[in-house]
Amino acid sequence: MAQHLLKVRNIKKYFPIRSGLLRRTVGHVKAVDDVSFELAAGETLGIVGESGCGKSTLGRMIMRVTDPTDGDILFEDVNLTQMSRTQLRSIRDRFQMVFQDPYSSLNPRMNVGQILSEPLVIKGIRKKEALEKAAGLLERVGLRARDLERYPHQFSGGQRQRIGIARAISLNPKLIVADEAVSALDVSIQSQILNLMMDLKHELNLAYIFISHNLAVVRHISARVGVMYLGSMVELGDKSDVYGSPLHPYTQALLASAPVARREANRQRIVLEGELPNPANPPAGCPFHPRCPQAMDICARQKPALKEAAPRHSVSCHLY
Ligand code: SF4
Repeated sequence: MAQHLLKVRNIKKYFPIRSGLLRRTVGHVKAVDDVSFELAAGETLGIVGESGCGKSTLGRMIMRVTDPTDGDILFEDVNLTQMSRTQLRSIRDRFQMVFQDPYSSLNPRMNVGQILSEPLVIKGIRKKEALEKAAGLLERVGLRARDLERYPHQFSGGQRQRIGIARAISLNPKLIVADEAVSALDVSIQSQILNLMMDLKHELNLAYIFISHNLAVVRHISARVGVMYLGSMVELGDKSDVYGSPLHPYTQALLASAPVARREANRQRIVLEGELPNPANPPAGCPFHPRCPQAMDICARQKPALKEAAPRHSVSCHLY
């Protein structure tokens, strides 16, 4: 049995910048630049960072919705990056995605019964049986079996996200990548959906990669947390370490600007200065150095590697 469910090795995604009549490539946006991490079965890893830090692109590469420029993604020791789209179909049911806006991912012309039973029928399950399973899935996510007849527009945002989750678990996946899955919902609904996802995780031994810009949401659901900045993973560790003793100046600034974390950590407030640099023209050396209150000469010249600074707690910073 694989020790890790997922191994991401030196993954990169560079989007070409084209210009001129001939649409020549004049540069690249390094959306994800050399990110590595591992995920155990049943584990929840939160990925947090500002908008544009590359966290969604990372999630889409793991799902192979977006092809990486370089690097490897091993799922149960099978290298997804070397599989064709046809080969991927055979294992696609083992990793699924939950999106921020379930409405755009649910076909408005299909009722919920059709939406939930379709992947089961494609897998060879008879239609009647697939609909029975779909009814069970709906009840499992807190809706009613009779909702099978209704269409996506007849549900609230929170209910639609429940349908998205029901569809994601319909083929018994081992991994769900949830990209800003509760960001569009009211705060009271957010906690209901998070609690549902945590219940399902325990019941089905699901692993999650939970991507969000919201520190409180990531803290609520994750066991480990990775912090991304400008395409790089700058800190990675157990939730208690990253939130309780953040090492990277960027993580410290993020947490200090979050009201709950600031109160609990009782640390000096560090304000993030300046805008997120243009990923098409990132700073040399440490990508955070133009905004870092602790920057040194070396920071502008040399990009620090992500390395273990304490047990199970890694950081990419010349201070360690
Ligand atoms: Fe700041 Fe330098 Fe560490 Fe980057 S490497 S976070 S600039 S101290």
